[in-house]
Amino acid sequence: MSAPPTTRDPEPRTRDTVRRLLAYFRPHSGGLALALLLVSLHSVVPGAIVLLIQRVLDDVLIAQDRTMLALVPAAVVVLYGLNGFLTYTTGMLTRGIAWRVVTRLRQELFEHLLRLDLAWHQRTPTGAVLSRLTQDVVEVQYGVSGILTAVQKPLTLVLLIAAAVYMNPELSALAVVVLPFVAFPIHRFGLRLRRAAQDRLTSHGSITASAQESLTGVAVIQTSGGEALRGEAFWRENERHRRDQMRTFAAQLLPGPVVEIIAALAVGLVIWVGGRQVFAGDVQPGELIAFMVALGLINDPLKGITKINDLTQRSVAGAAAVFEILDQEPAIRDTGSRALARAEGLLRFEEVGFDYGDGEVVEAVSLEVRPGRMVALVGASGAGKSTLARLVPRLADPTRGRVSLDGVDLREYRLADLRRNVAVVSQEGFLFDDTVRANIAFGRPGASDAELEAAARAANAHDFIVELPRGYETRIDELGLRLSGGQRQRLQIARAILRDAPVLVLDEATSSLDAESEAVVQEALDRLMASRTVLAVAHRLSTIKDADEIVVLDGGRVVERGRHEALLAAEGPYARLVRRQSGA
Ligand code: ADP
Repeated sequence: MSAPPTTRDPEPRTRDTVRRLLAYFRPHSGGLALALLLVSLHSVVPGAIVLLIQRVLDDVLIAQDRTMLALVPAAVVVLYGLNGFLTYTTGMLTRGIAWRVVTRLRQELFEHLLRLDLAWHQRTPTGAVLSRLTQDVVEVQYGVSGILTAVQKPLTLVLLIAAAVYMNPELSALAVVVLPFVAFPIHRFGLRLRRAAQDRLTSHGSITASAQESLTGVAVIQTSGGEALRGEAFWRENERHRRDQMRTFAAQLLPGPVVEIIAALAVGLVIWVGGRQVFAGDVQPGELIAFMVALGLINDPLKGITKINDLTQRSVAGAAAVFEILDQEPAIRDTGSRALARAEGLLRFEEVGFDYGDGEVVEAVSLEVRPGRMVALVGASGAGKSTLARLVPRLADPTRGRVSLDGVDLREYRLADLRRNVAVVSQEGFLFDDTVRANIAFGRPGASDAELEAAARAANAHDFIVELPRGYETRIDELGLRLSGGQRQRLQIARAILRDAPVLVLDEATSSLDAESEAVVQEALDRLMASRTVLAVAHRLSTIKDADEIVVLDGGRVVERGRHEALLAAEGPYARLVRRQSGA
């Protein structure tokens, strides 16, 4: 796709991926070296077995040597003991290294995902991202087995051939002639495998994305009778994944038998020529049989060599998918160097424009919120209110103009400093599957119990929290959906109060609370807003009435601004908006 067809290396990017992947293994080079040593030791076993068999046949059975009769069985036990020990230790060692790399890569990926900007997350299906995190990352582990197999199997092969040559050079020459033919299928299927492995990971991502989307929207699907439609959509992804999977299987399974048939040709040739040598008395029967065993044992390393491709290609495909995300630069860059301890709270939008990529949805908006004051953004859905609100904690940067805090462009502050000065209470009312305490403390992890409880009290949340089964230690997931909308909002408000940031962004819930909870939530909000700079995306009149300025947006432009009473009296867009709302 990316490389011109004339290049000799079909995918130069693969090399970069391999080089980068190897860098992750570098810290484990000691362990890998040990594994390689053990694996090399392991490679000696089959050759030794072959020589042992020759001894059993020629010295023990035919020559009836009693000393050898005692030694050979002992050697067999020792050899197999060694074999078992090596199988276990190298297996654990290599998997240990592989999983350290997988775990580190997964952690890096996760932390990188948390840093990627909101816009990236909005255009990337969560399911596909989860698939990278759960499936693609794990594929990387096969790289270690790939490297070790690439050492062990050829070495075993060479040692077996050496044993064969030691026993009978002529017959060996005959068998070895066939080997070059084996290289062809291995190479051929290797290329196919890489493509299939990549497609398989992509289609796995699509399955997860499709499922994730449907499960999130299960209520909509059920109420609109969309089960069959979504089922069909999932079936297409499901089928595509099955076909990719089958292509991978074919490319995995075919080289083995092909190689085996070529090897059988060699064995046939050896029986024919070797048999004549035995008839002529040039060769001992034990030698020929041991030689045939050697040929039989060659099968295993040969097949192992065909798997090297499978293992390394899977690993590289997985790594490529992971690196693709790691290479995404967050659009929000933390390049500012200015420190900000606690802001005064003068928030200013100067000729701000914003474009998601297909035209400005916010055009030249200017507004100012003085320290401790409140400005409310109102307007129909899609007017650009949330987009403006998102600029304050720099979830996005304006594409035109600038937003400043205390007279300094937000981009000049260190991102962490800026964000510590901004608290957001948003519509979603997002709570983690953790305890109530942890959810509130999330705003300020080091807070004391007393501070936490004071925040909960101020947010009118303390009373309902202590009535929960385990009070502050109750887990949100235990409660499931049993928290009411108002209670969830109050937990969020408590989080923001505890955070105690001088600038507050309220992207307030549209959800209609009943009058009583509305009063309780409003009281909590009033306490939260007191003496803070507030930019509110407001829906409820109760919040707007006291605003120092109401900015009315339409199609991303400011169409009217002023205080509640003045705007009502002006009978303009605001008055119409209010009338429509109270009429509804
Ligand atoms: P409001 O909060 O007033 O309802 P928004 O700020 O959410 O308005 O949206 C303003 C405009 O930007 C709308 O036309 C909306 O479709 C568009 N928009 C919002 N989010 C995105 C996004 N992630 N990608 C592209 N367009 C978006």
